[in-house]
Amino acid sequence: MALVESQTDTNLRLTTQATEGSLTMGVFSSAERMGHTHVLFGTDDASGLRAIIAIHSTALGPALGGTRFHPYETEDAALTDVLRLSRGMTLKNAAAGLDLGGGKAVIIGDPRTEKTEHLLRAYGRFVDSLSGLYITAEDIGTTIDDMAVIGRETRWVAGQAHWDGGSGDPSPATALGLFSSLQAVAEHLWGSSDLVGRSVAIQGVGKVGYHYAELLHRAGVKLYVTDVWQPSVDRAVAELHATAVAADELLTLDVDVLSPCAMGAVLNEDTIPLLRCAAVVGSANNQLAEEKDAERLADRGILYAPDFVVNAGGVINVADELRGYRNERAVARVKTLQMRTKEILARAAEQGVTPHQAAVDLAMERIQAVSGLRTLACR
Ligand code: NAD
Repeated sequence: MALVESQTDTNLRLTTQATEGSLTMGVFSSAERMGHTHVLFGTDDASGLRAIIAIHSTALGPALGGTRFHPYETEDAALTDVLRLSRGMTLKNAAAGLDLGGGKAVIIGDPRTEKTEHLLRAYGRFVDSLSGLYITAEDIGTTIDDMAVIGRETRWVAGQAHWDGGSGDPSPATALGLFSSLQAVAEHLWGSSDLVGRSVAIQGVGKVGYHYAELLHRAGVKLYVTDVWQPSVDRAVAELHATAVAADELLTLDVDVLSPCAMGAVLNEDTIPLLRCAAVVGSANNQLAEEKDAERLADRGILYAPDFVVNAGGVINVADELRGYRNERAVARVKTLQMRTKEILARAAEQGVTPHQAAVDLAMERIQAVSGLRTLACR
């Protein structure tokens, strides 16, 4: 693992030193335990930038992953998040068959009040200083417009607007990948990918959740939705004939499929015993609170389609931009998630392991085949 301490220009310092608190105390042990190759801290006093880029693996190629702009309560929380998210990108990119490694970045601050062109450009220079080892894109708290600003300082940015030759908003592609994966789940469980008459409960009808709900509605699925933002629920009810459900009831609905499309850790030792669905297929990252939850779900006879496999449509779409974006090619590749999910479910059944384990194994095999690496602290 490399931690960089350098001065790239007069405005931007890359440093391992936190000003205070315990951030630096656990950096080496955390990054080494989780297998990261680089953890870089970028600060810029003039703009107020405080950012961390974590590169988990470049075994398959440059590390691609978005930049999350979030008002973390502590620097430790920001570090923990970026280490966890970047490791997840290694698995996601490998399982999706991309020639890309895993990385992620966080900017500490409130995007609504602290995001300025000055700060984003300083961040762009931070990304640029890595000369392509890390390629960024949008994530929670950053937008296509932000990528355009960052792109004025570095070419190592994807997720640009369509009018700028980019792949645009990744959410429709993520929703399409999710839908394709659900078809594989249906085939595995019920012998047909036809979804007519099936019921799906969606937690969070935001950018991904709504596009996904539209695809399901067109496929003849009965929808149940919840969201903390009432206008999104009202829209799904009015336009897609969805049934609105209280937030605390959605997880326990007797439905074919539960789709967490809002936040992580929704599948845990408290919620899993209460679930009444046959399968879980959702876009939210890190749905399992801990690895053990994959087994808890299997013990309950619930099929869990691994989040990092089924939500890879967005990154597949973004990655296409690196070759000169072509929508038809990207869409075709996103749809291959149906086959990928099918393969993982078949392997899991054959080998008597959870689909989550089968997906991790598949990603690891690919990394090993390409790089010769035998182990990666990915689990
Ligand atoms: P979003 O912010 O547009 O949508 C999330 C929705 O969830 C919002 O409408 C929000 O109001 C709602 N929500 C938040 N907390 C909730 C709660 N406790 N109960 C019910 N609803 C709640 O985000 P998005 O881009 O649609 O992403 C959704 C999830 O999918 C996130 O976990 C994201 O990390 C993941 N994801 C997104 C993409 C993508 O392409 N956007 C790709 C991969 C993974």
